[in-house]
Parts: sequence; C-alpha cells; structure tokens
Amino acid sequence: MASGSEIDLKVTKDGGLAAPTAEQLANGRVTSSEGLSFKPYWWDAAPRTAESHPLPANADVVVVGSGFTGLSAALTLLHHGRSVVVLERGVPGFGASTRNGGQIGSGNQKFRVKRLIALRGRKKAEAMLREGARMLDDIAQLIDVEKIDCHFARCGRFRAAIRPEHYDAMARDMEDLRQIAGVESFMVPKAEQHTEIGSDAFFGGSVLPGDASLHPGLYHAGLMRRIGEAGGLVIGNAAAQDISRDGGRFTVTTPLGKIAAGEVIIATNGYTDRLVPELGRRIVPIGSGLIATGEIPEETFARLMPKGRVYGNTNRVFYYFRAAPGERRVIWGGRVGRGAGNTSERAFRHLARDMLHVFPDLASAPITHAWDGMIGYTYDEVPHLGRTGAGLYYALGYCGTGVSRATYFGNKIALKVIGKSEGRTAFDDLAFPSFPVHAIAKRAVPVVETWYRFRDATKL
Ligand SMILES: Cc1cc2nc3c(=O)[nH]c(=O)nc-3n(C[C@H](O)[C@H](O)[C@H](O)COP(=O)(O)OP(=O)(O)OC[C@H]3O[C@@H](n4cnc5c(N)ncnc54)[C@H](O)[C@@H]3O)c2cc1C
Repeated sequence: MASGSEIDLKVTKDGGLAAPTAEQLANGRVTSSEGLSFKPYWWDAAPRTAESHPLPANADVVVVGSGFTGLSAALTLLHHGRSVVVLERGVPGFGASTRNGGQIGSGNQKFRVKRLIALRGRKKAEAMLREGARMLDDIAQLIDVEKIDCHFARCGRFRAAIRPEHYDAMARDMEDLRQIAGVESFMVPKAEQHTEIGSDAFFGGSVLPGDASLHPGLYHAGLMRRIGEAGGLVIGNAAAQDISRDGGRFTVTTPLGKIAAGEVIIATNGYTDRLVPELGRRIVPIGSGLIATGEIPEETFARLMPKGRVYGNTNRVFYYFRAAPGERRVIWGGRVGRGAGNTSERAFRHLARDMLHVFPDLASAPITHAWDGMIGYTYDEVPHLGRTGAGLYYALGYCGTGVSRATYFGNKIALKVIGKSEGRTAFDDLAFPSFPVHAIAKRAVPVVETWYRFRDATKL
C-alpha cells in the first residue's frame, strides 16, 4: 500500500480500500486505484446488459450505433411502422450516450452568436440557433410523451466567467441569443455569485433558467424499453464490419451473420472508424472524462451548488459539473488526454485539480468513479446529417454537446429515411468538410488542448 510520503488510503468497514480523496487524486498521490471504479457512475443505476439475439435476415432499416442518435432514429421509424434492427459493437449504450454529463443546453452551438453569423451569414445562423433552442424543447417533449423516468429537470445553467472581460462578452452574447432564438437568461455579477455558486474562482456569470439535466443512463434505458415495446431490436456485440449495396438493398455483415436492409443509418459519432471512409475522414474522436465524488456533507453541498443547476465555464478547454440526481455527489467533467477506456487514475488527475481550484472544500471528498468516452468532432464544429455517396444515411459530429442534438438529429434522419418533410433541418445544406490531414488532426488533439489550456491560463 502506501509508502514514503504517499498518503495512506483509508480502509473501509468491510476491509477493502476506500476511494482516494480528491486531493490525493489531484496531487498524484494515489497508491492504488482500488476503491475507485472506472465504470460510469450512471451505470450503477442503469447497468449495461448484452442479451444475445439471433440476427434477423432482414429489416426495413438497420441502424449502426446504439446511442441517443441510433435509438431516437429507431423509435421514430418504429412509430412509423418500419421494422428496425440496431447493431451495436459493444453492449447496447456502450458509447458516449451513457457516459456523458447529462447537461442539456438551449443555445447548443459552439460559437458566440456574432461569430456564427460571421461564419454562416445571418439567415442561416439564425435558423441554426432557433433550431438549437428547439432541440431542448423536443427532448423534454419526447421524455414526457414516452414517460421516461430519467430525472429530467429544468434546473437551469450557471455559466461562470473565468475573466472579467468574458462576463461582458457573455452578457452581449446572451442578449443576441434572446433576440434571435428567444432563449431567456440573466447575468449575475461577481458580487452576487454566491447566490449561484460557492466559489470565488469566477468573475460572475450568466444563468439560463430553461437549461436542463437528466440521468443519461436512465434516459438511455428508457429509450431501449420503448424500442423493445414497439417491436425493435437492439443487438449488442454485433459490430457492422462491412456494408455493401446490391441494387436497391444493403447487406450489413456482422460477427453474427449478415442482415439485409432497405436503408442503413450510421449513428456512430465519436466511435466512427473506417467502416464508412467518407465519414471516418470527417470525424475526429476526442476523449472526454468525468469523475464523481462520494456523498458530501449536506451543509457543504448546499453552499457549493445552492440552486442545484448545471454549471460550466467560459474556457476554451471547458469543464462542467453538476450534482448527481437525488444524491449529494458532484459529477465533474472535462477532456481526457488520450482517447478513452482509461483505467489509470493518472488520466483523471487534472479533473480533480480543476475541481479543487473551484471548490477547495472538496479536498477530502472521496472520488468513487472516473470514466471517459469519445466525442465526435467535425472540422467546422457543427453536427451533420445527410446521405453519403453510397446512399447511407448518417447523423453525427455533435462536438461534445449531443444529449439533445443526438436525440433531435436521430429523429430527423429517421424522418428523412421515410421521406417526411418534417425531416428538414437548417443543417441539411451545410457542406460537410473533411479534416485536411485526418491522421495528423487525430494525433494533434492533445497538443492543441495543451495550447488552449495555456491560453486559458494566460491572457493570450
Ligand atoms: C464524457 C462525455 C461527457 C459528455 N457530456 C455531455 C453533456 O453533459 N451534455 C451533452 O449535451 N453532451 C455531452 N456529451 C456528448 C454526448 O454524450 C454525445 O454527443 C452523444 O451521446 C452522441 O450520441 P450518439 O448516439 O451519436 O453516439 P454514441 O452514444 O457515442 O454511440 C455511438 C455508438 O456506435 C457504436 N459503434 C461504433 N462503430 C460501430 C460499428 N461498426 N458497429 C456497431 N456499432 C458501432 C459505438 O460502440 C457506440 O456505442 C458528452 C460526451 C462524453 C464522452
């Protein structure tokens, strides 16, 4: 166990090793990862299971990928009388959809309003912004209509300014967003920020009261249940290994055999590989991670997050946090350096450091879970949906903001498959650029992030 200057890990009542504290994790003084689970916290309430199903010979539509995009598409297709098989390489819900922070925004674009207008022109930018706001209402409606019990709550978001000048820029941007997309917000100056957050690390911030949170694992489990009830199949351990087209029909090859389909939807986002090279060139997968604390004392908890909102900052290398639904735990997220699937506490150290910078009071809080997943980045930082040259439908590239967007794009791509005009979106006619040198872009991710961190830490 511990030696030298390393802190001894506490021993739990049943003799096992207790989870490391946030301080130990932040200082790299964890001597053993025992007591720290590298599985998503969300999986405790919604464990992943892979029931084995024989692969049917045919389906109207085969969906590749069982995250929110794939499941939302499947549900829409089933409600329109189509037979659907969702193929998943891992266990159903293996990807980002059961690993994310469960924060849902109403702006939903990666750009300030003025920047988006400069990039896309006023008309297109306004349409994209309005649709972004609608995505939040749509997911709320879906959860309501399908009666999915997933702790969906309009808790509001506090977005903290990390520099004084960010506060003013954010105030202008919030006003632009209100005028164009009707998104309500208000500013909270530094002198009053303790009404929103028990931290002095910021220079005030904005509140978007309509923003929301949910439990991603339970949301995913609810979608799976509705798909099953509607006669759809989600098959795990069934990677699509090859897709070929013969006349009007597709054949998808999996380790379980072949399945023929009238149409195929690719919904692989940050887990997109070379299966469809045209898409592989357009997505760079970036690792993103989260840590969860154990339960923290009531008084501390109420002081740190008095209104139980979701929280984020104005950094380029973004971190975000929230409470776990119904528990006094903090869930804290940000980027992880090297892909996903990390099972060394080292990969999550900087998350604990960031958390202690904002909430020094959490130094002795145990860190019980640390996990990661892949987000799918596009070159123009905009999600895309449409059809490849070979006729495959796709919806992906949410650039880390995908709980509502994936649900929305999944529904829209399904409506396109069945030729409904409601499938139209403001994103339809956007060119989908490849990364100029994809292999270099993939490798350069950690370098670019280090540069952004440096710029956040200095005034560059
Ligand atoms: C750590 C983390 C935190 C995040 N936090 C937030 C947040 O707070 N708010 C927010 O809005 N967004 C967040 N996101 C982003 C959001 O989770 C994603 O944008 C969204 O879940 C994408 O859903 P998806 O269905 O498109 O992809 P995924 O859920 O990633 O699903 C894709 C699936 O495709 C499967 N697959 C890949 N290739 C094949 C194949 N050949 N055959 C079969 N299956 C295949 C994968 O195994 C995977 O399960 C976060 C993401 C991560 C990783």
